[in-house]
Amino acid sequence: IRSTTVPNVDGSNNTEEDDEDDVVDLAANSLLNKLIRQSLVESSHRVEVLQKDPSSPLYSVKTFEELRLKEELLKGIYAMGFNRPSKIQEMALPMMLAHPPQNLIAQSQSGTGKTAAFVLAMLSRVNTLELFPQCLCLAPTYELALQTGRVVERMGKFCVDVQVMYAIRGNHIPRGTDVTKQIIIGTPGTVLDWCFKRKLIDLTKIRVFVLDEADVMIDTQGFSDQSIRIQRALPSECQMLLFSATFEDSVWQFAERIIPDPNVIKLRKEELTLNNIRQYYVLCENRKDKYQALCNIYGGITIGQAIIFCQTRRNAKWLTVEMMQDGHQVSLLSGELTVDQRASIIQRFRDGKEKVLITTNVCARGIDVKQVTIVVNFDLPVNQAEEPDYETYLHRIGRTGRFGKKGLAFNMIEVDKLPLLMKIQDHFNSSIKQLDPEDMDEIE
Ligand code: ADP
Repeated sequence: IRSTTVPNVDGSNNTEEDDEDDVVDLAANSLLNKLIRQSLVESSHRVEVLQKDPSSPLYSVKTFEELRLKEELLKGIYAMGFNRPSKIQEMALPMMLAHPPQNLIAQSQSGTGKTAAFVLAMLSRVNTLELFPQCLCLAPTYELALQTGRVVERMGKFCVDVQVMYAIRGNHIPRGTDVTKQIIIGTPGTVLDWCFKRKLIDLTKIRVFVLDEADVMIDTQGFSDQSIRIQRALPSECQMLLFSATFEDSVWQFAERIIPDPNVIKLRKEELTLNNIRQYYVLCENRKDKYQALCNIYGGITIGQAIIFCQTRRNAKWLTVEMMQDGHQVSLLSGELTVDQRASIIQRFRDGKEKVLITTNVCARGIDVKQVTIVVNFDLPVNQAEEPDYETYLHRIGRTGRFGKKGLAFNMIEVDKLPLLMKIQDHFNSSIKQLDPEDMDEIE
């Protein structure tokens, strides 16, 4: 597989010096997840399937051979190191590759094999003898489009006649160019432009339409409408596929508007629990005091690796400097860094190059670093109304019941924040014990 030139990715470096909490950037988080992903994410739940026609037989596959793929595609799959279909792929692939093609809405958390599944579907439906766009995939950002493109290139390594092109801002196509690539991956705005204004893509010839990361997509102003305008111009026999990592009502409504007569596949996320986490709190006067308590804990017990959460960037920076001055090897993961920089910090931490990772709230959302034994809330997570942010607390500390290890969590609490901690304790119905930081024997 060959691809055309890709414009430079200019990392969006947000350098503004703010002390505010970082904003959740869904697209950045999603990209980060892809960059640091090392393997499939497990789930102990069953795949739920809702067929558009409940009377038709439901096929699932346990091997890639059963799918009767083109030889060169099967070679590409094995070259990627895939031995068998993932849980979601077992159900999704037979539907996606069926004749006549079926539409699909699929939801499962990131890392469960959705991208690999639709890339496989696109590659298997391309007619290499025809030199015009046949598969169209919409992604929320330029960087995410490139990530998907890389999967197409890897999986399609032996499909030498299949080509990809990126419809993303900055990829200038000279006037009068004929687009001969069969797979187009792009962001809604640019794709719309290429289809309607510049007439580079004939939508009536598209066979597979993929809307990836629907939850991120609807989070971006204008993308839903643009996607719907594109979808409306597709032929009725075009296969339409939508993927999302989460499934709030808004995503569901959008999915139903854009995908006619869909089959629906869901794989529920492994729930987080606090059951195998021992939770403690230390009462402190102020920030310096919290730091002292942290040092005592650090000195008092053998710590594998720890993540320390702060509520603001400013606190996180302060703590990083303090710890470094005291000779600790720490790294700071903050929202001002580019996604690539964040990915490399997480990778270093995973490789054990640093023992402590300091971060703000949202920065570390959804990032699981399995070997972490200790989580410290240097500040308790609170929302704008200064109420406890239960969900964030659970995300920081919780582990998945079946695959997670035991853990330890410490909360550094100013006296006036104690009621918040009590609320958290009640909310989760789990005990958070007070700890005397001078006496670590209680823990081990
Ligand atoms: P998602 O799109 O749901 O986030 P991906 O398709 O990106 O998931 O897959 C997550 C990771 O698992 C990637 O590193 C991918 O290469 C790998 N992967 C996908 N399918 C399989 C499979 N059947 N066997 C082994 N690894 C897989």
